[in-house]
Amino acid sequence: MAGEFHVDIGPQYEGEVIRKEDVYVEFGGPKVAHKFELATLKSAAEIENEKVEIIGPDLNALAPYDATTGKGGSYPLAVLVDVAGSQLDKDAEPIIERRIHMFTNMIEGWYHMNQRQDIWLRMSKACYKKGFTSLRELGEIYNFLFTSELPIIEKIQTTLITDDKKVAELLPKALKIYEARDARARALKDEDVDTFYGCTLCQSFAPTHVSIIAPNRIANCGAINWFDGRAAAKIDPEGPIFAIPKGKLLDPVRGEYEGLNKVVQEKSLGTYDRVYLYSAFEHPHTSCGCFQAIVFYIPEADAFGVVNREFKGETVIGETFSHMAGDTSGGKQIEGRLGTGLEQLRSPKFIQADGGLARIVWMPKEVKERYKGVLQAKGLYDKIATEEDVKNVDELLAFLEKVGHPWLKGEVKLPI
Ligand code: SF4
Repeated sequence: MAGEFHVDIGPQYEGEVIRKEDVYVEFGGPKVAHKFELATLKSAAEIENEKVEIIGPDLNALAPYDATTGKGGSYPLAVLVDVAGSQLDKDAEPIIERRIHMFTNMIEGWYHMNQRQDIWLRMSKACYKKGFTSLRELGEIYNFLFTSELPIIEKIQTTLITDDKKVAELLPKALKIYEARDARARALKDEDVDTFYGCTLCQSFAPTHVSIIAPNRIANCGAINWFDGRAAAKIDPEGPIFAIPKGKLLDPVRGEYEGLNKVVQEKSLGTYDRVYLYSAFEHPHTSCGCFQAIVFYIPEADAFGVVNREFKGETVIGETFSHMAGDTSGGKQIEGRLGTGLEQLRSPKFIQADGGLARIVWMPKEVKERYKGVLQAKGLYDKIATEEDVKNVDELLAFLEKVGHPWLKGEVKLPI
């Protein structure tokens, strides 16, 4: 395989992190407004098999990152993977899309983080020096890996767009597709199914992490819901996403299931033997590094805040998302800290054992606006502080008192 490409490819590169000083260029990430990845099922006739198209400047036309000044080298990117296959249906799209994460990380000198509209890819200087001077090679590697690792894909074409205007133009369409996927899953409850799904795709970075995907619990990365888990286990039974018979319900409030405990013990190599799906305390879900947001405990208020990856400022406890992410990630169970998909804010079981959404007291303004509907429905919209209302915990406590937050007033009864 290495003979066909300028760099080596294999699972041994999956844990490779490309540090700032080694970056040649990066795509997406926090400095770039427009970026996304999308897999689309098409008919065989619509696909020119193994075609790679680059729209916008290619690698050799992009100025590299300047390590001396710490400037430049960050560019927009859309990764569009179109597939066809007689056995494939629309359910497979999110799963194929999520494999972009794994396949990019299998390339020597490449690194991929996050998902959907939050992608962040890095290419190393060493990789460029080895002759990887065109994104065409990245597209060819995707085409090769997708068809060899997922034989259910019969035809594939990959488009890589670095033209900012074009990425910005296509982004709203992608956002609509992500939203439709999430909306479909909202109708289903954990009680409605016997099988949950597990994902260990991120174990290369977080060896003891297992994402549990249930109807009321989207994966930490926010990219895989229960339907996606089901589709993944079907199209690639040997792959990183697998079915988990949920087994006996041991604790309906905290969300402890016999089947989940067994799987967590197996897949974390005995590090953990219990997991609660609906609580941030005692045996909380582990967090890898791809989570969309962090739910964090604020001791002074005995309540929680939520911060998303895009929020660049300091949270109410004086820490930024990236600082907190360092302490939260790595596949550990940390009481009072949960890496989470943002869609969880809509889940009726979201930290239900701890008081649910009614125990959230702070979140960035942008998240509050995005989830305005669900917050209003629960009478919480005016009760939650943002960075515009308070700057520290003292101000938060005064704010909560002023607005009469239901948790602080003792109106929220824990269901235990
Ligand atoms: S965050 Fe979880 S579900 Fe998403 S890819 Fe990683 S392990 Fe899988």
